[in-house]
Amino acid sequence: MTVKFCIICMAITGSPPQKSDNLAMPITVAEQKESTQEAFEAGATITHRHVCNDGSPSSDPKKFGPLLEGQRRHCLKLIVQFSTSERSGAGRARGAMLSLRPDMASLSVGSNNFPTRVYENAPDLADWLAGETHHVTPEVEALALSHIFQVAAMLRSGRLHGKLFVVFVVGVKNAMSADKDVFDYYVATMSRLEPEVEWCAAGIGSHQLTLNEWSVAAGGHARTGLEDNFRLDRHTLAPSNAALVRRTAEIAARHARPIANFAKARAVLGLRVAA
Ligand code: ZN
Repeated sequence: MTVKFCIICMAITGSPPQKSDNLAMPITVAEQKESTQEAFEAGATITHRHVCNDGSPSSDPKKFGPLLEGQRRHCLKLIVQFSTSERSGAGRARGAMLSLRPDMASLSVGSNNFPTRVYENAPDLADWLAGETHHVTPEVEALALSHIFQVAAMLRSGRLHGKLFVVFVVGVKNAMSADKDVFDYYVATMSRLEPEVEWCAAGIGSHQLTLNEWSVAAGGHARTGLEDNFRLDRHTLAPSNAALVRRTAEIAARHARPIANFAKARAVLGLRVAA
């Protein structure tokens, strides 16, 4: 039986980050650097990142450039993933930083509801953003079943190609609920349509632990971090990103899933191994 390594992805800070949620939320560049390093040492190999401009989420390459440069200077091994979320800009501005060629970038292939608004990802913009990711590995964020079918359609038509990392984002209010039968169906559908795709799950808020457990048990990868959830449990704030990563690593150990180190994670995702 082949060993299925588990990649841990960390979404280290809110978009925008707020200390009012949890004082451990890394806000400054120095705090983010330290938090990322601790989480990397705890077993995370992908860092999912947002940047801000005067407190608002941004997709400005002038902000992402120093982040990438600093991260690579500090830890070349870590896989850096930029967010192209609609919270950071409008239209094609969302992909403005892809020219910097991070290792990975998030990609939304369809629309859905968020707690108070529509998360809008029009088909032509999704196609354009997918085209702009040709030098990076897309992290497709699937918030609805239709997004899984869209990934398969885009792969078949050549609008997406190469290695893909699909993250089922579960527990966003008014989007996909944390329902085990539905989750199992998502996994089965993704594997049936595109068996080569690497998949992961991210649970939002109190669903983070549950989704880590479901995903690891079913052979998927796991996302954690203070962006998605800032509590260890209902009564306890998470003291750090590293604490959340350690919790995910414990789940993986319980399911006999070795944690992918940076070299293994890069190999699984078809990424160049850093020098
Ligand atoms: Zn994010």
